[in-house]
Amino acid sequence: MEVNGPSEWRFQANRHLIAASSRCVRKVVGSLINSLGNEDERQAIFLGHGDPSVFPSFRTTVSAEDAVVNAIRSGKYNSYCKNLQGLLPARRAIAEELSRDLPYKLSADDVFLTSGCKHGIRSVAEVLAGPNANILLPRPGFPDYEAHASFYHLEFRLFNLLPEKGWEVDLQSVEALADHNTVAMVIINPNNPCGSVYTSHHLMKVAETARKLGIMVISDEAYATINFGENPFVPMGTFASVAPVITLGSVSKRLFVPGWRLGWLVTNDPNHILSKTGVVESLECCQIMTSDAATFLQGAIPEMIERTKEYEEFHSKVIKILRDTADICYAKIKDIPCLYCPYKPQGSMFMLVKLNLELLEEIHDDMEFCVKLVKEESVILLPGVALGLKNWVRISFATEPPTLEDGLDRLKVFCQRHFKK
Ligand SMILES: *Cc1c(COP(=O)(O)O)cnc(C)c1O
Repeated sequence: MEVNGPSEWRFQANRHLIAASSRCVRKVVGSLINSLGNEDERQAIFLGHGDPSVFPSFRTTVSAEDAVVNAIRSGKYNSYCKNLQGLLPARRAIAEELSRDLPYKLSADDVFLTSGCKHGIRSVAEVLAGPNANILLPRPGFPDYEAHASFYHLEFRLFNLLPEKGWEVDLQSVEALADHNTVAMVIINPNNPCGSVYTSHHLMKVAETARKLGIMVISDEAYATINFGENPFVPMGTFASVAPVITLGSVSKRLFVPGWRLGWLVTNDPNHILSKTGVVESLECCQIMTSDAATFLQGAIPEMIERTKEYEEFHSKVIKILRDTADICYAKIKDIPCLYCPYKPQGSMFMLVKLNLELLEEIHDDMEFCVKLVKEESVILLPGVALGLKNWVRISFATEPPTLEDGLDRLKVFCQRHFKK
């Protein structure tokens, strides 16, 4: 049958989605990888994103792999998960594990299982987006917050982190930005991209500021176990009696398995403010709308957590590597005149470095710096613009030490080549 075509097709993709997703790290790193030249016979060195799972030193524990295999083989986890928040034994195990560092006990009801931390970020944006609501986000930050806020029409305002003060939150700028439509502020601790770990004192100040403003704190603790400096990691939930906290976490960085897509969103709310204001109910609605984390991964959680001894061995091994690579990175950057790092990382896998463009010939901004670096040296860094901080770059030091050294040596050669005569 011949049917005449319509004069025009009426459908169109959601342009808003394209605009929002262009902010994500994946997008920026992807475009840099595409500009890798094929003239360079050397291996490309990826210091742009934080996924060291491909390196032998960061291969996850056998105990975690066993837990997943056993869960699949048991045949008990082939169904949809019947509980909205996730399987009860998994939530109970996570609640217990996270309670070890808190002054009160979490219950399984405080835990929502997610497909990774990113899913938690999305749920937060979904739940908080109201007609005029706004959320306060850190600059530099993790761009997915802006992407999801923007997609859900949740206005975001950026407060500064202060490089000379260990990248602490500029609480004055938080107060200046907030108004009666502000609903929450986000902190990331240990911090991506800055590598900072906040002191207990600073977290208390954050909680007090949130209380004064009547807002909640969203604490992204994806790197909760990745700290190797002098400040011990303190969960934001410690101060949840001052202001309510939603904590996000996942196995991605804890076990170096970002491909497993398993995380949690936890309400730290000893005063039941999140339930009274309907936030908990809305979180349940989010869970209804989206698909659960794979049931067998949920089923594997109790065994993963029970076998702590094997995890602890693995953990001390990777922490040692990261402490060493952070040292290497800091020392090598110090030795390159046009780069400046105000803070030696204490946690996460990243270091932020400022470019002194006045010393460089024909490089006008961080993006151009990164593009030329890819083309000439096959080294990939993340330009600061992607994180809201122009003319900085983020270096991931979570690689095998010889690879990192090679990458940083190439970076030095690149800077020397472009150094103003
Ligand atoms: C990696 C990362 C995430 C995403 O974690 P997934 O669990 O893999 O979704 C979220 N927040 C920060 C700060 C991250 O670095």
